[in-house]
Amino acid sequence: MERKIYEYGILGGGPAGYTLALKLAMSGACVVLFEKENLGGTCLNKGCIPTKSILYNTNLIYKTRTLTKFGINIDASGLDFSKIIENKNNTVEKLNKSLGLLLKSYDIEIIKEEVISFEQGRINTTDAQYECKKIILATGTIPAKIPGLETNNKTIFNSDGILNLVRLPESVAIIGSGAIGIEWSRIFSDLGLEVTLIEAQKNILPLADIDVSLRVERLLKKKRVKVEKNVTVTKIDGSKLLLSDGKEITSNIVLVAIGRSPIMPEHNLEFNYDGKFLAVDEKFMTNVDDIYAIGDLNGLSLLAHSAAHQAVELADYFLKGKMPEFFKKDIPSVVYGTPKVAWFGVTEQTLEKNNADYKKVLFPISAIGKSHTDDEIDGFVKILVQNEKILGVSIIAPEAASMLMQFMIAKANNLPYKAILNTIFPHPTFSEAVNEAVLAIDNQSLCLPKGKN
Ligand SMILES: Cc1cc2nc3c(=O)[nH]c(=O)nc-3n(C[C@H](O)[C@H](O)[C@H](O)COP(=O)(O)OP(=O)(O)OC[C@H]3O[C@@H](n4cnc5c(N)ncnc54)[C@H](O)[C@@H]3O)c2cc1C
Repeated sequence: MERKIYEYGILGGGPAGYTLALKLAMSGACVVLFEKENLGGTCLNKGCIPTKSILYNTNLIYKTRTLTKFGINIDASGLDFSKIIENKNNTVEKLNKSLGLLLKSYDIEIIKEEVISFEQGRINTTDAQYECKKIILATGTIPAKIPGLETNNKTIFNSDGILNLVRLPESVAIIGSGAIGIEWSRIFSDLGLEVTLIEAQKNILPLADIDVSLRVERLLKKKRVKVEKNVTVTKIDGSKLLLSDGKEITSNIVLVAIGRSPIMPEHNLEFNYDGKFLAVDEKFMTNVDDIYAIGDLNGLSLLAHSAAHQAVELADYFLKGKMPEFFKKDIPSVVYGTPKVAWFGVTEQTLEKNNADYKKVLFPISAIGKSHTDDEIDGFVKILVQNEKILGVSIIAPEAASMLMQFMIAKANNLPYKAILNTIFPHPTFSEAVNEAVLAIDNQSLCLPKGKN
């Protein structure tokens, strides 16, 4: 059997693995990257990119239906759903090719094979052994299953299978209201399907601030999505779903979106786990020397930007000895569609639970001219502060993600919230809501009437 020697062996070519490979190769390190499927991982092939491509297209369809009030009449009745899927496939393929070229330009050795097992210092594929001083596991996650409920890609789907739906049903039940469940609720409701969203917790988007959960629920209901909270699905019998509160729902298909489970090749090592995820220290090292785990696999945050950031910090640690600071950093969360939903930091319910002393502002984006020019008035900027310090921000607005970054950059640089006011914001833009919301913390917004400030 062939044996090869490397400094770094990276398992998994998703955002965590390929970013690490790139950063190390840029400094001339000797790297080998293993990927059993397509480069880009879940994010590019089954997650961020395909869902956002579909979401963008279906949102255009929804928008088209509302254009009559602007005097524009477009007939969107001849919808060909297969074209949306075809466009999604083309987008993924194009980005896949560019990623391949990017990695090739740095001469990264890519083994397009499954790693079947590993041990300290060694990675095994079916026909070769690779000696690697350091092993970095970045094998990610797969859709979590509901015990006893198997997906069949005909009537019961998970977030992988649903991407290749060929024919649109009339109704869909979505189990789980995290980002994936909400995004698919938006996709299917934009397409005019009957959607029921089922959540086991007492609020949808359970990890978000309570005001976000409630407003997103209101937005979904405006699109006729039925929301069932505080219930679980106890039985699925053909097209009938029985809920724990005794209610029965009829639906052509079911999408299971209840979370993710980590995957790893075989090994004989005694790893420590944090719940179901691989436990790591602040340098992303597992309890086994010279074996690291980054990205979804360590469960610190199941997001592509977190996976890539961990990779950048780990490369800096390997190459320059710089200690990673991921554990101290805020992570932005975004739910896509229109309007976007974005947040970071603590939620109001956590502050309340801890009896914390805090001040809050919930600034409506309808107070900003741009929300009216764009007919997008439903949303807000919510800021939680303690003295001068930003604790958490939640935004619902078409440009929520980039608006959020203005607060995150201020906070990451230890700036007081008032520092945001030193900048002139362009008019008319949604970013004016950032400026005005900050002013509103001290009752100084120039857009809110006396008494509402
Ligand atoms: C529907 C959906 C939508 C999402 N949308 C967003 C979003 O909008 N924004 C966001 O930030 N995140 C989003 N995510 C999450 C994001 O996709 C993940 O956080 C990210 O892909 C994690 O990157 P990773 O590199 O850790 O793992 P992955 O991307 O899962 O990559 C792991 C790679 O390892 C490979 N691999 C596994 N085992 C082996 C083996 N034995 N041998 C060789 N290769 C192996 C896999 O084939 C895979 O390519 C979404 C996820 C889903 C499912």
